[in-house]
Amino acid sequence: MIESDRDKAALNPALLPKGKLPQLVRGMKDILPQDAPFWDRVRSVVAAEAGAARYEPIETPILEETPLFTRSIGRETDVVEKEMYSFTDEGEENLTLRPEGTAGVVRAYVEHGMVNLPQPVRLWYWGPFFRRDRPQAGRFRQFHQFGLEVIGDGHPVIDSQLIQLGYRIFQELGLPVSLQVNSLGDSLCRPAYEKLLQEYYRKRRNNLCEDCKRRLAKSPLRLLDCKVPDCQTLAVDAPQFVDHLDEACRQHFVQVLEQLDELEIPYTLNPKVVRGLDYYTRTTFEFWIDEADGKPLELGGGGRYDGLIERFSGRQTPAAGFACGVERIVLKLKELNLVKVEVRAPDVFLAQLGDAPRKKALKLFGTLREAGFTVVEAFSKNSVKAQMEIANRLAAKFTLIVGQKEIMDGTILLRDMENGIQEVVEFGNVVPELKKRLLKNGGGKGSEPARQPSP
Ligand code: AMP
Repeated sequence: MIESDRDKAALNPALLPKGKLPQLVRGMKDILPQDAPFWDRVRSVVAAEAGAARYEPIETPILEETPLFTRSIGRETDVVEKEMYSFTDEGEENLTLRPEGTAGVVRAYVEHGMVNLPQPVRLWYWGPFFRRDRPQAGRFRQFHQFGLEVIGDGHPVIDSQLIQLGYRIFQELGLPVSLQVNSLGDSLCRPAYEKLLQEYYRKRRNNLCEDCKRRLAKSPLRLLDCKVPDCQTLAVDAPQFVDHLDEACRQHFVQVLEQLDELEIPYTLNPKVVRGLDYYTRTTFEFWIDEADGKPLELGGGGRYDGLIERFSGRQTPAAGFACGVERIVLKLKELNLVKVEVRAPDVFLAQLGDAPRKKALKLFGTLREAGFTVVEAFSKNSVKAQMEIANRLAAKFTLIVGQKEIMDGTILLRDMENGIQEVVEFGNVVPELKKRLLKNGGGKGSEPARQPSP
């Protein structure tokens, strides 16, 4: 490639402003080509499961108005208190990079009048989310989630069906998850339970961590989920919400559990599943997987949020959903070796010898793609040897060679890479000739796993 002085200057790092080269931002992650099969696998399983159950895809923007999150997730939560990427843009609007998916979906439901559609509305999403959390294994500042939401129906069967779908997704991926369930009651019975919790913890206040001391007044539920060992010890004997639900919430929860029994999905009743966000009511659940050290890793979680939509629309609208972390799922798929990475052998390598043949070959590339073949090339190379080496390395099934002579004759050289046999074929016949041979070799286009490339 001929580089102008200007190109060279632009590419020369010495000419960049002083300081180190730009680097990946802390807590962010590149998803490299070698990761693609794992990401594709997760996405295709989720899309298939959600699609088959008639969940419709939805994509909401990454940027939303900050109050959307402060009002839905709750001011006293870790996410809102310390993890949101918020800024004021030039129009002086206070904006936030979305830290989770439900709030945006709910905003879209209200804003687009989806309440007028037959209820419930079933939606699924996939995309990046941002939390300025402390980066560690399986915890990033930009991460991806997929989520399923069912809006406009309060029946407990909705909760069980969401759990069933989540469980199916993990089974389909081959991940042995355990299901943890709990109920957080509703606005009618929660205050009495929170009072009980506060009484319990106030007596033991001296043993609480500073965060928990602070949270005791406004978010006592969150104390149950604190990771500090002393707080965990206290949580063991704390009163449990499932023993203090009012009759309506208890009945709702019992029905969810009965349905899970019917589905033969094993679960653990876990009072610590309080979720980190304020909007949850009644059923909450998480999918856990064991780490090598025996500690559980949360792959996903969700629950019911019957009061959330009312806060935005003024109209009582029950709903439930869950979200799962794609990075963590991919981590586990790799660790457990659950995705077979198969390199497909390209049908054709397109070689050319010189400027005029290169032009011809470039045009032929389009023709071959249109006919449905997978085609690779090394158009910028001149030497035939270098090109044949690449064809071998990529394990192409056939190589087409366009040279000066072939252009004059209106022909092309077709080489079977399996047996090395070369034939001259009419340029105009190259598509049917290739089709004939690929079919004879027993493969559809691009359907065969790669041969072992020649050394
Ligand atoms: P949450 O929205 O907190 O309920 O998270 C749902 C799922 O998203 C979790 O179970 C994790 O798998 C994943 N997740 C949440 N936060 C992060 C993060 N900072 N980095 C990677 N994955 C995350």
